[in-house]
Amino acid sequence: MLSHMDHGDGTARRLLAWYRRHRRTLPWRAPGNAGDPYRVWVSEVMLQQTQVAVVIPYYERFVRAFPDVAALAGAPEAAVLAAWSGLGYYRRARALHAAARAIVDHHGGQLPLTYAALTALPGIGAYTAGAVLSIAAGQALPAVDGNVIRIVSRLVGRHLAPGAVTAQVRAWLSPRHPGDFNQALMDLGATICLPRQPACGRCPLRGQCAAQGELPPLRPRSVRHQVERHYALIRRGARVFLRQRPATAARLSGMWELLPLPARPPTPAPLATLRHAITNHAITASVYAAPARGMRGEPGRWFSQDQLADVPLTGLARKFLQATLGWTPTALGWTSAASDWTPTSAPAGARSAPSRVPRAAAASRNSATPSAPPGDGGSRRRR
Ligand code: SF4
Repeated sequence: MLSHMDHGDGTARRLLAWYRRHRRTLPWRAPGNAGDPYRVWVSEVMLQQTQVAVVIPYYERFVRAFPDVAALAGAPEAAVLAAWSGLGYYRRARALHAAARAIVDHHGGQLPLTYAALTALPGIGAYTAGAVLSIAAGQALPAVDGNVIRIVSRLVGRHLAPGAVTAQVRAWLSPRHPGDFNQALMDLGATICLPRQPACGRCPLRGQCAAQGELPPLRPRSVRHQVERHYALIRRGARVFLRQRPATAARLSGMWELLPLPARPPTPAPLATLRHAITNHAITASVYAAPARGMRGEPGRWFSQDQLADVPLTGLARKFLQATLGWTPTALGWTSAASDWTPTSAPAGARSAPSRVPRAAAASRNSATPSAPPGDGGSRRRR
């Protein structure tokens, strides 16, 4: 424990008082939902690496489609991925689905409310178990993620290892309101003690904070590599050609995307270009019009807009379809246009003027190991 810190309940008291006045209104905190372990679990998994404003429409749509563990367990994986499409980090959706099936098989369809049983399920680690059990079951368990590590490190004035932060949070935890305490830390990290330029003047813990600002970075920021990706938009009437990523793909396996091209085609200019940052890669992805002839027999399928409502698309494919064809999230059955792919250009006229598919593209279509596309997930901060 940290010798010079407040060992009493002063920290919890100040934090809880602030939380009661400033807590964010979120759908999973609505009356009835906060005590539902399933809804808390879904929200916590969605919030990993993802900002709350992005999560809200996905959460609402997801729990409407899968209102309980049994509904999620009984759904095909493609339907779960389709509901997750655009949220990124699809491993989370697959783990959620696998855990739901395990809960039905081994726990009678009820989320088990012990730390040992929860952390034995796919995709549930110490953080998620602590959050679910403290919020939905009132158990005095810490929920320590990157935000909490940042807050506690600043409070003591030096970078701390996760274990030291967990021990400190455990000492502060309010035994009567552990869920509120953990959520207060989450909200403080999301609204006040931000990664950059924390709003210390509004912080309820300012009086006991050693840093009162950012700590020097542990290591120099890594150099960001520039990466280019190219895709073909192939149309036949009102339909587009998509291919399904192989089940063995390291990322986004089984999801549908536009046809990747191995290189930038010589002509014409791209229909749209999007940018995305993921870890230390700055990815620029462009889409080019290409003709439909010669597509017969290629691995993939033709889809109309209506048919895509329940198809798990990669976030990039979804964004390209929006940017080039105007296929809106609503029309495609999605609730949000949120995406971490930001447009740099989306010229008009994308609905016509196909060009030849470059020979290299045909080679790619026939290849057993297509070029890896950029992922959907990214370096978004949580909450
Ligand atoms: S005073 Fe500033 S740095 Fe310290 S915990 Fe509050 S917001 Fe974070």
